[in-house]
Amino acid sequence: MLRGRGVSSGRVAAPVVHLAPPLPEPDPDTLVPPADRDSEVSAIEWAAVAVADQLRSRTAQATGETKAILDASRLLASDPELVSEATALVRSKGRTAARAVWETAVVHEKALAALGGRMAERIADIRDVRDRIIAEILEVDMPGVPERDDPFVLVAADLAPADTALLAGGRCVALVTVQGGPTSHTAIIARSLGLPAVVGVADAQAIPVGTMVLVDGDRGTVEVAPAESRIAEARASANTVGFDGVGALSDGHRIPLLANVGGAADAKAAASAHAEGVGLFRTEFCFLDRAEAPSVDEQVTAYRGVLSAFPGRKVVVRTLDAGSDKPLPFANSDSEDNPALGVRGLRIARRRPQLLDDQLVALARAAAAEAAEVEVMAPMVATVDEAGDFAERCRSAGLDRVGIMIETPSAALLAAELFEVVDFVSLGTNDLAQYTMAADRLLSDLGDLNDPWQPAVLRLIAAVGAAGRAAGKPVGVCGEAGGDPALAPVLIGLGVTSLSMASRSIGRVAARLQELSVADCRRAAEAAISAISAGAARAAASSALDGG
Ligand code: PEP
Ligand code: MG
Repeated sequence: MLRGRGVSSGRVAAPVVHLAPPLPEPDPDTLVPPADRDSEVSAIEWAAVAVADQLRSRTAQATGETKAILDASRLLASDPELVSEATALVRSKGRTAARAVWETAVVHEKALAALGGRMAERIADIRDVRDRIIAEILEVDMPGVPERDDPFVLVAADLAPADTALLAGGRCVALVTVQGGPTSHTAIIARSLGLPAVVGVADAQAIPVGTMVLVDGDRGTVEVAPAESRIAEARASANTVGFDGVGALSDGHRIPLLANVGGAADAKAAASAHAEGVGLFRTEFCFLDRAEAPSVDEQVTAYRGVLSAFPGRKVVVRTLDAGSDKPLPFANSDSEDNPALGVRGLRIARRRPQLLDDQLVALARAAAAEAAEVEVMAPMVATVDEAGDFAERCRSAGLDRVGIMIETPSAALLAAELFEVVDFVSLGTNDLAQYTMAADRLLSDLGDLNDPWQPAVLRLIAAVGAAGRAAGKPVGVCGEAGGDPALAPVLIGLGVTSLSMASRSIGRVAARLQELSVADCRRAAEAAISAISAGAARAAASSALDGG
C-alpha cells in the first residue's frame, strides 16, 4: 500500500502505465555505413506510414480540441516532403533514421519561426510528429500521456499542463504522481475530468508497468496488486451523488452552487450535472498549448462554447490567469526566479495591456452573441488601484458586471475598499492559502500548510465575508475549498454567498447543505475560526455541527 495525498475523489482499479519521458536528441555523430542506408530509409518510410495510420484512427474517435490537435499532426505525418527530406539526409550524409527525422524537423521549425504569427504555432505540431515518428523508429512510447486502447492508471513524476490537455477523451482512469499538491493544475484537471488522483506518492515510479493498482482518491492510497474482491468493491462504489439544481440550506436560505470549468466540454458536463451556472471559467485552460496569443475570433469561439451551455444563467469568466503553475508561452517570460510571486494573472497587463483588452473585446462579443449572464473577474489582484483599473477597462469594453478574485492576503485585508470599485468578489482559496501560509501549492511536502482550514486563512475569509455583508455585495468561493462538504458550511457561516466547484462535487456539497441551517453554519464558522490549527478547526466545526 503506497500513501500520498488524495486530491480528486473516487476509487478505481486498472493497470499502471508510466508517462513516457521526453525523447533525447538522437546522436549526430553516429554514421550509418552506405550498405545499411537502405534499411534506415525504409525505417523512416514505415514509421511515417504507421504514425499517419495511428493518427487517422485516433482522430476518428476524438472530439473537439483533441481532434483538432490530432488532425493537424496527421496531415503533417502524411506530408511526403518531410519523409523525402529525411531520407535524403540518410542517403547523402549517413545520418541514422532518428537523427535524419530530427534534423528535418529542425529545418522546418526554423522556417516557421521566421514566418512568425499563426505559422509559428505550427512548431508544436512539427515537434509532435517528429516525436511520433522517432518513437516509432526506436520502438519506444511517444513522450507524454501514452495512447492505449484499454483503461489505465497514469503514473508520473508530475504532469505538464500540455500533457493534461490530452487526458480528456483518453483511456486514463486515474492519476498518481510523485509531486504535486492538492491545488496544482494536475489536481484541478483531475477533479474536473472526474479522475481519482493521488499526489505526493514518493515511490510511485517504482511500480512496474502493467501492475494492477487500486487508486483511492479519498484516502490518498494506491494499493499495488489488490485482491479481486477489492477491485470488484471499487467498481461497485463508483457512484456520484445527484443534484436537483437548487442549492439551499435546510431553512430555505439559497446558496447558488456553480461549476468551475475550463472549456466547452466541462461546461456541458456542468450543465448536465445541473450546476446553477459557472462560478469560475478558467480561460487560460483553453490556450495552455499555444505558442502565440489566440486571435480575438478564436477567443470568441472558445468563450461562446462555454456561454452557450448556460443560457439565462450566470457565467463568471476569469481573465487569463497565466503564470506560476499554469504558464502560457505567449504571456509569461520564463526567466522569473519566483513565478508564483511574479508577473502572473492581472499583472501581465502591466507589460501586455493589449492581451487583456483583446480578451475583453472577445468576451463582450461572445456575451452579445449568447444568452448567458456574463460577469468578468480578474485573478491575482493585490491593490485597489489594480481593481479600479480593471473595472474601468471592462466597462469600457461593454462588460458591466465586474469583480475580482481575492487570492492575496492584501486583497482580503482591503476587501471593504475593493467593494467600492467592483460588483462582487470570489475567493480563490487555493492561492489565498498559498500566499497566506507562504507555502507553494505544488509542493506535496507542504500540503499541511497549504490548507484552507488554517485559521489564518479562515480569518481572512471572515474579513472578506464581513466586508461583503457591509457592502451588500456577493462573496463567492471558487477555490477547491468550495467543493469540500465539511468546509462549505463554515464558508457560508463566514459570509460566503455562493460556492463554485468541480461539477462532480456539487451533489455531495448540496446534500450536506440541505441538512444545515444558517444558524448551524454560523456556529460551525465561529468554532472553526477560534481554533489555533487546521486540525483543531476541522474538529471544532465538526463537533459544532454533529456533536463530534
Ligand atoms: C484559486 O486560486 O483558488 C483559484 C480558484 O484559482 P486557480 O486555482 O486557477 O489559481
Ligand atoms: Mg488562483
